[in-house]
Amino acid sequence: MDYLINTHHHGDHTAGNPIFKDFAKHIVAHQNVPKLQKISAEGRGQEAVDAQVYADLTYNDKWSEDVGDETVHLMHFGPAHTGGDSIVYFEKANVAHMGDLMFNRAYPFIDINGGANITNWIQVLRKTVEELESDTIYIYGHGNSEFGVTGNKDDLMLKSEFLEALLEYTQKGINEGKSKEEISKAEVIPGFEVFKAPGWGLTLSRNIEAAYTELTSSDDR
Ligand SMILES: [Zn+2]
Repeated sequence: MDYLINTHHHGDHTAGNPIFKDFAKHIVAHQNVPKLQKISAEGRGQEAVDAQVYADLTYNDKWSEDVGDETVHLMHFGPAHTGGDSIVYFEKANVAHMGDLMFNRAYPFIDINGGANITNWIQVLRKTVEELESDTIYIYGHGNSEFGVTGNKDDLMLKSEFLEALLEYTQKGINEGKSKEEISKAEVIPGFEVFKAPGWGLTLSRNIEAAYTELTSSDDR
């Protein structure tokens, strides 16, 4: 095996590194991934720190490599789900793995402490749709029992519209002088009733809290 790719630093995407390191020539990730992975492990104690294996090949905005008959591209369009997300595009197959940039019709984990940014996440999804083909097949880091783990550009656009509506809803509450607690009581964002809580404590309330943090800490708002 030539390359193992970490789409970002989260444990459910890097905890296999200690096993795969003996089989892969390189572990590849965006340049922010090793440091975010280290900070995250430090928060969980020495045992977690000792268990980490880090990517040994990193890139800034684009990385491409021919692997067998395929050409693999990694793309980073700035902070979104975390501060180090990669989109993995298999050019000949016309298939893109989105890592956790896509939770299909589910409330995503927005890792503010890990460098996430909702405003830019919207742009990352739109830029992906612009850069890739109109019939690219997308694979999602987290699926939906009803809608599955793969799909097309419409799913990415729907997710970007959800994130936009999340920011608008939260900003409206802030403008009305409501507290974070009051705003985050919402049970649904109108128009996005199809979105579900995927488990692991990922609820709409958590999404609104992340949006509130982003909107109230940003200098230009
Ligand atoms: Zn993740």
